[in-house]
Amino acid sequence: MAYTYDDQNIFAKILRGEIPNATVLETEHTLAFRDIQPQAPVHVLVIPKGPYVCYDHFAREASDAEIVDFTRAVGEVVKAEGLQEGGYRIISNAGEAGVQEVPHLHVHVLGGRVLGRMLQRAG
Ligand code: 5GP
Repeated sequence: MAYTYDDQNIFAKILRGEIPNATVLETEHTLAFRDIQPQAPVHVLVIPKGPYVCYDHFAREASDAEIVDFTRAVGEVVKAEGLQEGGYRIISNAGEAGVQEVPHLHVHVLGGRVLGRMLQRAG
């Protein structure tokens, strides 16, 4: 499937500086910032600066440099937010089944409390 990137999504606007964000980390290819509606004491979103809709889009079309930068940035956020000791969860929602709200790849980094089981049993 070929993905079409919508450059009017809210994270594209954040990347263009049209909407403010609480930045945690910025690298050449990646931005990490606090979620506006945190679900845990630590809730950081990590996004690539390039126009990728979701994880498999990024994995297929991003350059090696972007992928390495993004992966290392997620690790840096975990460390910078002090999550190594207590643990954390990384989530990336995609499409309808994943209930993705913003169509720009993002990884949620969550921690600071026990987060409960990953999914509700809902059939
Ligand atoms: P999704 O459901 O797409 O995986 O998650 C999108 C996330 O983006 C949600 O957790 C939501 O709270 C967050 N979000 C939506 N709009 C904004 C915004 O303008 N700024 C920030 N920092 N987070 C946002």
